[in-house]
Amino acid sequence: MIKTLSTIIILSISFNSQASEKFAGIYFDSSLPASQLRTMKDDLTYLYKNPITDFDPEFQTMAELPKVDGPQMYNWIYNRVKYIIGQDYQFSGRNLVKKTGHVFPATPLPPSISNRANALAGIIIMSNTGADLYLTGKRDNILSGIKLDGDSVFAPSPRVGILQVGEGLFLERLAVNKDQNSEANKIKRIGTIFHEARHSDGHANHIGFIHDECPPGHNMSGFEACDGSSNGSYSLEAVALKSLLLNCLTCSNEDKTKLSVDIADSFNRVVLRTHVKTEAQLKEEMETYQRVIDFYIGYIPQVSKEAAEPSIKELKRLQDLMKVCEAQLKELKTPLVPKILDPKPEGPYVEVPVETSSQLMNASIAK
Ligand SMILES: [Zn+2]
Repeated sequence: MIKTLSTIIILSISFNSQASEKFAGIYFDSSLPASQLRTMKDDLTYLYKNPITDFDPEFQTMAELPKVDGPQMYNWIYNRVKYIIGQDYQFSGRNLVKKTGHVFPATPLPPSISNRANALAGIIIMSNTGADLYLTGKRDNILSGIKLDGDSVFAPSPRVGILQVGEGLFLERLAVNKDQNSEANKIKRIGTIFHEARHSDGHANHIGFIHDECPPGHNMSGFEACDGSSNGSYSLEAVALKSLLLNCLTCSNEDKTKLSVDIADSFNRVVLRTHVKTEAQLKEEMETYQRVIDFYIGYIPQVSKEAAEPSIKELKRLQDLMKVCEAQLKELKTPLVPKILDPKPEGPYVEVPVETSSQLMNASIAK
């Protein structure tokens, strides 16, 4: 009886989980479904083998690459991504590990980490768990990590490089076309990896190139889904996508259009001003406020002191809003300057040379 039972248990374990695997130096956890693992290995191989005949020069500058080719692009990712876990990875119980006594750099935390704004609801595409572990560990002054295959992986730097893949990365309705293995879909997924890999960079108040709240007037206003800098995750994703699209040999016109929309969407998340209103929108807004202000200025002296009180409050509120609009209009008229943040990560990390990551990739491809 006992024997039978244990046989059943062993069988069910071997059916439900697959072994973890190392590919091109990156650890893929057993929580990643086999089909996703296969696709991601193919995507990284495609990137590495890409001859790159043309690219957006902005990509080279932003990624600080000595030259742009497949091995260099893979190396950039490898320096920021070392572990990939699946959507079903359990962030609880014995999987969460902590170590006291670690001394974090005495740099300030990003302001939003202590009072986080609205988290984005919806389908998870991918997230940089390593940067989150570093940030929360530093905030709570305790070195944090997770268990992978029984080993503790701590995050003493945002460069620890743990990414979690969500179902969104492989959803057909979010894909460029129906063929998951098409070049266009590979390019889109690699763009997402570049985005998440960028979150392994940065220090002090921009650790992990943490996103900013989208400003008033933006379609994602109020959500932490924008970048106030010109070299954050959204910018890097956009220029990486642009570069890969230039080298796509099999993209149809429809694929190219869809990827161009993705590039525009990413750039749309880069907001270097405190608002995204146009001059015409601002003027219309100000005219409306002015009309109501004029009304209250005429109305308030005609009524008793008590009756006027709510109107006085409202007048003050509108006058404040008017001041905000005036400042926004003034800002709109000043030239836009790119805001480049220093990508240097904090905490201990080792920069892996391109020769090493290429050797790791070649060894995995040869298997
Ligand atoms: Zn992001």
